[in-house]
Amino acid sequence: MALPKQKIAVRPDSEAKLAKLVRKLLREAGVEAILPTPLDRLFEVAKVKNIAELPDEEAFLKSLSKKVQNFFLSAKQKLRGIADLRERASYVPPDPNNIGRERFAKGHELGHNVIPWHNIDPAYLDDDESLGASAKGVFEHEANFFSSEVIFQGQAFQKRARDFAPSFSAIFQLAKETGASNQATAWRFVEEQDEAIALLIYYPSKAIDEEGNSVLSLWRSVGSPQFNRRFPEIDVPRAVRTGHPWVAARDFNKVFDGTGELLNGDQNVTFEWNSWWNRRALCVLIRRKPRLSIVRDILA
Ligand SMILES: [Zn+2]
Repeated sequence: MALPKQKIAVRPDSEAKLAKLVRKLLREAGVEAILPTPLDRLFEVAKVKNIAELPDEEAFLKSLSKKVQNFFLSAKQKLRGIADLRERASYVPPDPNNIGRERFAKGHELGHNVIPWHNIDPAYLDDDESLGASAKGVFEHEANFFSSEVIFQGQAFQKRARDFAPSFSAIFQLAKETGASNQATAWRFVEEQDEAIALLIYYPSKAIDEEGNSVLSLWRSVGSPQFNRRFPEIDVPRAVRTGHPWVAARDFNKVFDGTGELLNGDQNVTFEWNSWWNRRALCVLIRRKPRLSIVRDILA
């Protein structure tokens, strides 16, 4: 049984075009390799205003179609950002407890404003769903990738990420450098590695285990290109509970590591794993030991 297909993250088809657009913007703003990326400078160069709240909510509301008005009113409390393309503005409420989240929303709204083919809707209203890994719709997916490119500065991050042996402490360090959340950094870190490594993210489900703790169920997974090539049929647990070695990270609230076997097709493969509980989700890195794989490749 392979990883559930719909849960494998893929980049938008326009990846190369978006990366180029971001590179140009970073260059024009003179902020290449400056981390955390000074987002204000990018807004300035792109001539987009970023404002913490709508200056005139009533006027904004009236300018929207009936359908979008209804969405605005029903989702208002949950909105994390608005891109108003007519005003060339974005509105992102401050998120003082999570600057990484706020920066990600800003990058996303800037994306809607500057990605040329997004200029067909007057306004984009974004909540947790459109800013998440499960965003529906090509434009949301594109704005998310744009934001990730802006925050991690694509190529530069790839080089930096490969300097580190994969571990959560490397990821925390890179998150600090880029001003991104630890979880978003873990995701991008795995995507950029040139060895076989994957990240699995589990969220608490409604089911309760024998110890009275939530059963954690697989939400999303992302693999490095090499991981996806070598282990296309990897069978990862869909749910884990207290007693599973990975779950110790939640139950003891610290990073754990170890080795274990997973099935790929009909073969058992030994992986190194690291697990970390971020108080909302369990993040697990699984990594094929590079040294063993060299031996295997020579023998093969
Ligand atoms: Zn959006």
